Amino acid sequence: MSSLSGQKPVFRFAPSPNGRLHLGHALSAMLNHDMAKAVDGRFLLRIEDIDLTRCTPELEQGIYEDLRWLDLSWEEPVRRQSDHFADYRQGLETLIGMGLAYPSFMSRSETKAFVRNYESNGQIWPRDPDGAALYPPFDKQRPAEEVAARLSSNVQHAWRLDMGKAISHLGHSLEWADTGSGERAIIKADPAAWGDVILSRSDAPSSYHLSVVLDDALQGITHVVRGMDLFAATSVHRLLQHLLNLPVPEYHHHRLVLDDKGRKLSKSISSTGLQALRQQGHTPSDIRSLLGI
Ligand code: GLU
Repeated sequence: MSSLSGQKPVFRFAPSPNGRLHLGHALSAMLNHDMAKAVDGRFLLRIEDIDLTRCTPELEQGIYEDLRWLDLSWEEPVRRQSDHFADYRQGLETLIGMGLAYPSFMSRSETKAFVRNYESNGQIWPRDPDGAALYPPFDKQRPAEEVAARLSSNVQHAWRLDMGKAISHLGHSLEWADTGSGERAIIKADPAAWGDVILSRSDAPSSYHLSVVLDDALQGITHVVRGMDLFAATSVHRLLQHLLNLPVPEYHHHRLVLDDKGRKLSKSISSTGLQALRQQGHTPSDIRSLLGI
């Protein structure tokens, strides 16, 4: 594993404080930590709290507590996304300036109602790799004067990437290198599968996709190690990196920790939560053997 710039490799674990950490997070955090250590690299922790309605300072403290218990240490200061909304706004402004972003006005329930109605006569509306309906095209077809009037009268809106335009702007395919399978594989990105992804919400001034690519670049991240549940999202990240002229890290999407029914662990189920495991008397080395690392 070599660094991109001749500097030390930089890894990061980037949890969201919208619930307590579970075994899946422990795997991600420990892999990042161990991989960084193995190459004399740096290990950063980033708090991804753009969703201010679900993230809390108590849950953020819980993350530090759980990670310290796992015997991990990271560089200070920790980057907290809610302290950097201006950086994400700048990224959004760049995309708006390039003519690749548009304001979207349909609420979640309006989109759902549209899809329900569309599918009521047997047609299927396309879904993204996470199973969510693609955003309908109406807002980007609105006349410019109507959009300007809505914006000036402060109608609630989000900003979305116009995926069709972004892909034409690109003019070629994108890929990324992924070592998650044990070998270094070159993966072809398929951002179109995500449709017009959200860049900022009416209730959150950025989106996961936008803030994660900007932060990875701003923090000089050379290696992104995270769960397979974010594998497909990497296509969007590659597109945004290209559009915003950001460096491209190496990726390692690791296996997910599943429950005994084969389901991805959830933050709402406390039995696999690190806090519960600690209270039951487990030790960090038990956690390592449970996870097979
Ligand atoms: N904040 C994301 C999560 O908790 C992870 C983001 C990433 O690793 O890119 O699922």
